[in-house]
Amino acid sequence: MSDDYYELLGVERGAGKDEIKKAFRKKAQQYHPDKPDGDEAKFKAVNEAYSVLSDEKKKQQYDTFGKAGAAGGGFGGFDFSGFGNGAGGFEFDLGDIFSQFGGFGGSRSRAHRGSNISVQIEISFRDSVFGVEKDIELDKNNVCTECDGTGAHKKKTKTCHECDGSGQVTMIQQTIMGQVRTNRICQICDGRGEVPEENCHTCNGSGVVQGREKITIKIPAGIEDGQQLRLQGRGEAIASGQPGDLYILVRVIPESGYHKEGRDVYMTAKISPTEALLGSKKMIETLDGSVTIKIPAGSEHGKQLRIKDKGVVITENKRGDLYVQLLIEIPSKLTKEQKKILEQLRNAGL
Ligand SMILES: [Zn+2]
Ligand SMILES: [Zn+2]
Repeated sequence: MSDDYYELLGVERGAGKDEIKKAFRKKAQQYHPDKPDGDEAKFKAVNEAYSVLSDEKKKQQYDTFGKAGAAGGGFGGFDFSGFGNGAGGFEFDLGDIFSQFGGFGGSRSRAHRGSNISVQIEISFRDSVFGVEKDIELDKNNVCTECDGTGAHKKKTKTCHECDGSGQVTMIQQTIMGQVRTNRICQICDGRGEVPEENCHTCNGSGVVQGREKITIKIPAGIEDGQQLRLQGRGEAIASGQPGDLYILVRVIPESGYHKEGRDVYMTAKISPTEALLGSKKMIETLDGSVTIKIPAGSEHGKQLRIKDKGVVITENKRGDLYVQLLIEIPSKLTKEQKKILEQLRNAGL
């Protein structure tokens, strides 16, 4: 079987939307598994080809990068969520036809997912060096703790009458492809095969409750301004489905005189001309508190000193380095005595 989407549908590269659609329908009818000489593998293949070529964006990716490019768009395998919504002008519900392949088509997990939530939090520069835990409170749908999301009082459930516990109901449909047997998710139990004996009193059977949730967010050391963290499953909960994700955009409030590059932190320290000329030991305030640095005699303005292991936390026992840039401060006013000594220095050739 050809690997090329255009070949699979039997159209030329550059074929128009209508032509692709027509070709797809012809092939889909030809290979439909319910047809006498149907071929499920080929049927899936042409569906995959069409799912890409009928989508302007995916088609463009495919045309440019081939299959890998189209698959890189984040649709594991391929995505039917857009099908049946009239996106391609379909007269029939493809989602239903595909669902008979179990997990192949209208996969419930994809459609049945709570919304993602995005929040932004600000942290200090210091916290971006050491890492920090932040608590946030979110108003959202949470899984009902009373019934663990089952919706059932005391979690007692019974077999669903509608589907006899299978979670699916089979229907016979007349379509342009002939008679098609389709399995639908049971509407009564939402595919679970079980229904509550009695609805949970807290959530009224919905399995979710609106509420405020406190969430502790671990922000790793070394995080950069504008980076985003993702907490899987901490978004909106949804009845009998996967909760969405929580995205946290981290903004680092800049601190004057400091910046970091990867694992290393940079700061500046002001020193006097004599400290630069004669050298000295000097206490400076760093993110770790007071640290004594040794200024070598003859240090030039802008010289950098390295202090090992006072940079970004990497592991419990490992850190990047701190670089201290020396800035020589020239006093704008001198006392009479200072001036006299400096004049003597000038006469001495300094
Ligand atoms: Zn059911
Ligand atoms: Zn409940």
